[in-house]
Amino acid sequence: MTNAMSPELVQAFENEQIAKAQRDTRIGAIIASILFSLFGLLDPFVYPEHLSELLTIRGGVVVASLAIFALSFTTPGKQHSRVLGMILYLVSTLSIVMMVHLTEGYLSPYYAGINLALIVFVAILPLDGLRAGIICAITYAAYIIPIIVMGNVDDVAILLNNNFFFLSTIVLVVLSSHFATRLRFKEFAARYNLAQANEELKTLDKLKSDFFANVSHEVRTPLTSILAPLQAFHSGDFGEITEEQEKIVAQMYRNSLKLLDMINQMLDFSRFEAGKAQLRLSSVDLHEFVDDTVSLFQEVAQQKGVELRSITEPGVPEIFLDRDKLERVLTNLLRNAIKFTEEGSITVRTGLVEDGSQESGQRVFMEVEDTGIGIPEDHVPHIMERFRQVDSSSTRRYEGTGLGLTIVNESVNFMHGIVRVWSEESVGSLFRVELPTNLEELVPEAFRERRKRERRRSVTPESIRERRRRTRRTEDFVQVAADELALMEKEMLGADGNHSQEESGLHSSDEPRGPAENEDRILL
Ligand code: ADP
Repeated sequence: MTNAMSPELVQAFENEQIAKAQRDTRIGAIIASILFSLFGLLDPFVYPEHLSELLTIRGGVVVASLAIFALSFTTPGKQHSRVLGMILYLVSTLSIVMMVHLTEGYLSPYYAGINLALIVFVAILPLDGLRAGIICAITYAAYIIPIIVMGNVDDVAILLNNNFFFLSTIVLVVLSSHFATRLRFKEFAARYNLAQANEELKTLDKLKSDFFANVSHEVRTPLTSILAPLQAFHSGDFGEITEEQEKIVAQMYRNSLKLLDMINQMLDFSRFEAGKAQLRLSSVDLHEFVDDTVSLFQEVAQQKGVELRSITEPGVPEIFLDRDKLERVLTNLLRNAIKFTEEGSITVRTGLVEDGSQESGQRVFMEVEDTGIGIPEDHVPHIMERFRQVDSSSTRRYEGTGLGLTIVNESVNFMHGIVRVWSEESVGSLFRVELPTNLEELVPEAFRERRKRERRRSVTPESIRERRRRTRRTEDFVQVAADELALMEKEMLGADGNHSQEESGLHSSDEPRGPAENEDRILL
């Protein structure tokens, strides 16, 4: 953080004062023109004999003020805005001094105008104490010197009285200019230091995000090489293993997937944070996509005793979207819905948005509604913010990183869509995603994959297992596919919910069993 009186701070304050003086001089010039013209109404009544001279002086002030106003827009005028401001001050005060000498000298009632001008200028064109002092000194000299030189002072009391008030005004103007400048400096220093601290925090935040991304990346590489053989073990590719061994392998596999998923979420998050996320558009049949993904989570929902259904409204065209991001959105919403729902149902709806307005183009919606624990009212507006969790204590019942909804929100925003949330505690939650149907037109530079129609997935547990068998060897090693996520959730639920591993589907009749199956067990 910058020292309170560092040269950079002083320079930054100077720059701000120069910019402020530009604005203030313009306002001062307009006000001077108006006031000098208005006070001209007094001249015919107070000094009709000097009317033409007085009006000439006033006209001169108006012309000079307008010239200063115009000059304040030029480059030298901007650079020397405080000098311009001082000239404006002096034009106004000295012209009143001229009027005073032109009329009755030290007896002239127009003397009050000098005080008024000084005070008005302190308010509209505040300068520092030194500059204000110079202006006051010149003005006072212009007032007092001719009076002393002329020497015809008959009424000393009036002269003394006027001088007393004049000098008091000068002291007031100089002191208030000085203290007001100090106050402005303090306020500026606070703002400046805050902005500096903010910048430093941003840099730190970026460093932290880079570190976060690098570490996640470094961890992911060895993890994926552990996962592939683990999957092979788990799928029975290395021959028969005992029941105990299989239990351990399943646990290792499940936890490795979980770890990989968390690392992927962190990497996704860092990519969004660093603005490095990319759109890869491909043609998506939303109904098919949602049906397929929902069916993958059917087993885990059933296991929890929650009904999971998908309702598709007709009329949704095939559209270009980022399939990976869409999958992350839906799987995160589904996993949350399952995690936070103990009984009742989860409904996923898709359809066309019908709001009558075609201005922003046609949109589709995809919503996940549950009858779960809901979100307290005060948390709802902030629930999409990063790391937000209703219960973030270490003893919380539901585990999680608090990144899922942030990724949902960022992914949807990235696809030019929005996420809306409705939720009521103990009643349930509804997350609604709206996406444009013309994303390829909105982001023409987005990478577009060749139009390929994904084969409709068959969703029997056997086919999931079979596909999983292939996935890590033939497809992307670093991504956790939706079916793996579903499987992971299901097995975690089995492990957490005191179901036996067998119940949770870890073993199935078509998978190899080890010789341990018939062994006796001792319960300790
Ligand atoms: P995580 O689930 O890993 O904690 P998320 O970003 O996915 O992180 O969700 C943030 C928080 O929002 C959750 O911790 C939970 O408090 C709340 N939340 C999300 N979805 C639901 C839901 N369907 N029902 C109730 N609360 C939810």
